[in-house]
Amino acid sequence: MRLSLIPCLALMLILSACGWAQPLQNSRQTSNQTFQIQLAENLQTESARFEPILERFRQTLEALPLAPQQKITVEIRSCRQANAFYIPSERLIVMCPGLLDTLSRRFGENQGQETFHFVMLHELAHALIDQLNLPILGNEEDAADAMATVLLLEQANSPIGAILAGIDFYEQYQQGFITPWAGVHAIGPQRMFNLVCWASGGQPGLLENRLIRRLNSEMQALNRNCSQEYSQQERAVKTLLGLS
Ligand SMILES: [Zn+2]
Repeated sequence: MRLSLIPCLALMLILSACGWAQPLQNSRQTSNQTFQIQLAENLQTESARFEPILERFRQTLEALPLAPQQKITVEIRSCRQANAFYIPSERLIVMCPGLLDTLSRRFGENQGQETFHFVMLHELAHALIDQLNLPILGNEEDAADAMATVLLLEQANSPIGAILAGIDFYEQYQQGFITPWAGVHAIGPQRMFNLVCWASGGQPGLLENRLIRRLNSEMQALNRNCSQEYSQQERAVKTLLGLS
């Protein structure tokens, strides 16, 4: 691929592990039997910014067949890095507001929120794989990206958040953040092609975008069938989660 095809945007971290978490002392919470969503007290002045994202996430959680013993807690709280992560021992998803700031600076506020929402779904996928003991084939990070893309398309017709997350990974690579080859994550360009492939495989209308069409042409030339890949993933996710 000619690297110049991809717009060059700013670089920040996504989805690398922080690895620590402290309980919130003060937070605004919404909860039902199977999930709890918390916005840290010091972020209450920004609640209007986070509330639309949390409401979408709430709707996704409500549609899932979670049992009470599989409770998932989501916290939006200040962190040391622009980051997001899932802590299995605490059944806890942590979303750092600095990540939304970073994505909004890069893509604009609306598209930054779309990308942040996709990252939340990626972390939710880790939580579901862990708590439902889902059988998966291959790398869990790739499975989480695929599941998040399917969940996004189930909820909304536009998987733009998945595309932008992929572009962000690509830009991190371009700007020197080299994913260790021996690590759990695919390198940035691979992750970007995967997300573009799956999102456009599930929403062919995206091919009207010239960049996405060119990226798809490169994959087609290498016999990659994105429509088929998405169909396989959609079937797997719906079967595993009991979605109709
Ligand atoms: Zn992950």
